[in-house]
Amino acid sequence: MTAPPVAETAPLVGAGARGGRYLDPVLETMSRDQLDAYRTSRLLNSLQGTYERSPLIRWAWGKSGVRPEDIKTLADFETSVPFINKDSLREYRDERGDAYSGLGAGPSPSVWGAQSTSGTTSDPTLLPFFDRHSVETPGSYTESFARAYWELGVRPGDFVAMTLFTFRGPVWANPQRIGATPVFFNHGSELGRLLDIGQRLRPSCLFLLSQAMIFELAEMAEAKDAGVREWLASTPFIYGGEPLGARAAFIAGELGMKLYQHTAVGDIAVATECLEQNGCHIPEDQVFLEHLAPESSARVAGGEVGEMVVTSIGDGIPLVRYRSDDLVRVGWDSCGCGRSHARIWPVGRVTDGVVVKAVRVMPADVWRCVESVPETRNGLFQIIASGKSMESLRLRVGKGDASTRSSDDIVSALTGSLEAAIGVPVEIDLVSEESLLRLGPPHKIPRIVKA
Ligand SMILES: [Zn+2]
Repeated sequence: MTAPPVAETAPLVGAGARGGRYLDPVLETMSRDQLDAYRTSRLLNSLQGTYERSPLIRWAWGKSGVRPEDIKTLADFETSVPFINKDSLREYRDERGDAYSGLGAGPSPSVWGAQSTSGTTSDPTLLPFFDRHSVETPGSYTESFARAYWELGVRPGDFVAMTLFTFRGPVWANPQRIGATPVFFNHGSELGRLLDIGQRLRPSCLFLLSQAMIFELAEMAEAKDAGVREWLASTPFIYGGEPLGARAAFIAGELGMKLYQHTAVGDIAVATECLEQNGCHIPEDQVFLEHLAPESSARVAGGEVGEMVVTSIGDGIPLVRYRSDDLVRVGWDSCGCGRSHARIWPVGRVTDGVVVKAVRVMPADVWRCVESVPETRNGLFQIIASGKSMESLRLRVGKGDASTRSSDDIVSALTGSLEAAIGVPVEIDLVSEESLLRLGPPHKIPRIVKA
């Protein structure tokens, strides 16, 4: 179906200097009412096709006795269609011997490329692209990337610097989709080359910055001339992976770097911050977003924390009611950039949190408080989990050598900060930083351990 006419157009600002702010003004700025009607219509019209092209969906729905013709309304969808998750993909893959987990017609010569999931929580899964069309055309997987690049000022003929710690899919196709040229740098060893070439080529964006890179760039910028700092301050950086700690954000601010957060949308699309830097935009014309309580699957209010559950309603990977395991807050209102599509603020993973006195506590909540106390500002801590629901939040926190206050004073500062921010009783075991660092590098300390 075609998009409904657009009632109003937001003023062009920021990137608008070169050819308009929006890659697809009609789809990106339609009113919330129009968007809701459009996405619901696409959802209901796409289910039959998704069912036919996805053995995984036929298998999952068959187990629940659901057929596409049973789903006539959004209410039918919400009450009858079963959820799937990464375990469903693995179960299908192992049971049927299909490397692509039933996401297409099975292994075939027409598979053009495959991307793999990160495997953060368990073994990685292969996601197929069946032909060039599936990555190169509007409405495909690249669309959400292309819109983000466009918003940050990338235009045909520009360069996009790509510093990837891992290649999991055809990432080069994303800038190419709008006629820009990707230039690659090794994340671990080529930051010097990036700084030199960056100043000459002037890429209009960099993908993908990590926290570790910020610290390294800061050190290198010290040793280089003012041109490097000027380049760092004039290039938009898209960052992803783990959330930025306060120290990395501070250093990036000192360097004048502009950072835009980026996150996956259940392997169907991506969500990236616009120039407003206020939440990552979900492409709602391609992804039907549900925001549900992890335990009860009830709808959650936008400002509350809920799990992102996604259904492909474009040409993306055929997943339906896919539980992403990602906890987010959602803004359903229009953004300052003029886009109506929902914004998400990632909070962590469902499997990352603990429940204390019915309050879900995430490592990020604890991190902010631990960093705020001078003696524990390096943010080294672990949550000690005991059972499904706990009566108090038990933490092991690493204390630096330079502290002059007594352990009792430090514990009381930590307790005050945590209880004020999270609102649950806290028990703290103060240990040396070395004892925690022995468990892994600073970004890999297991944040939640069993008692
Ligand atoms: Zn925006």
